[in-house]
Amino acid sequence: MAYKSDVIEQAKNILKKRAQKAQYDLEDRQELAYEKCPELLEIKKKLALSGIAVARIMLEGGDPQDRVEKIAKENLALQARRKELLAQNGFPEDYLKPKFFCDKCEDTGFVDGKICECHRKLLRQISFEKISEISAIKTSRFDNFDLSYYPDEPDAKTGVSPRRRMREILNYCKCYADDFSAKSDSIFMYGATGLGKTHLSLAIAAKAIEKGYDVIYSSAPNLLSKLENEKFGRNPDSVGTEEAILDCDLLIIDDLGAEFSTQFTVSAIYNIINTRITYHKPVIISTNLTSQELEAKYSERITSRIIGCYTDLLFLGKDVRQIMNLE
Ligand SMILES: [Zn+2]
Repeated sequence: MAYKSDVIEQAKNILKKRAQKAQYDLEDRQELAYEKCPELLEIKKKLALSGIAVARIMLEGGDPQDRVEKIAKENLALQARRKELLAQNGFPEDYLKPKFFCDKCEDTGFVDGKICECHRKLLRQISFEKISEISAIKTSRFDNFDLSYYPDEPDAKTGVSPRRRMREILNYCKCYADDFSAKSDSIFMYGATGLGKTHLSLAIAAKAIEKGYDVIYSSAPNLLSKLENEKFGRNPDSVGTEEAILDCDLLIIDDLGAEFSTQFTVSAIYNIINTRITYHKPVIISTNLTSQELEAKYSERITSRIIGCYTDLLFLGKDVRQIMNLE
């Protein structure tokens, strides 16, 4: 899974801090223990010296077995004495051992060259924190998607009950999120404003992130202005936006068509859609435009790619936000 480099860097820093904390805490405990019982410090020194002695014996060659065995025996005796002293002084048995955040990888982030579960969790958390800057992700869940806002009576134009349609769409999105993989299909959500497209795409995003996938969520205007600024060097701090957009496991473009349309935006959108189709990487697009409006705004080239390759979901109903008096 391709996490963005700043996410990887942040995780690395946290792992480093955890390892440092384990070391500092150990040093604090050592100080306390050695002050209370200086013999413990003697034992520590003797154990360290025996390690050096073993290394020297191995270097000297010959038949080291007897000498190494003797040292091993002495070490065991020292360890037993340490255990005794710790107990006598009221310290727990593991008092002088480092306490790692993760015992599996000892806070290195890797076990046998493979990324440790704690590290993976960290990457997920960080990328979630980034996306959760969009505050709506916390409140947009499947379980609070309220079908009662959608009329049960058939829609005059389509003859379909909006509630029934939205129930199907909700179920589809739930299954999509449950089965999500980096090779999932792409989804095209369209219909009038305020019908829950953002809610459901964020609910999918949260589930995909929970599963450890790298998700980018952005409104079309934000995404395109970020790309444009980067392209024309207007924001020197911003790098890798295009790579991240083309490469992430799930890209969600909200409100396509709300951006100010230029030659740049049209070709950028085509490039994103086309590249991600070529590499079988899922995209969720939502728009308030009809397919005719979309075609007028972009080109037949783009709309035919979307219509041909995406699963389209037509949202029906009355503007939920108006019903709820939110806007
Ligand atoms: Zn670990």
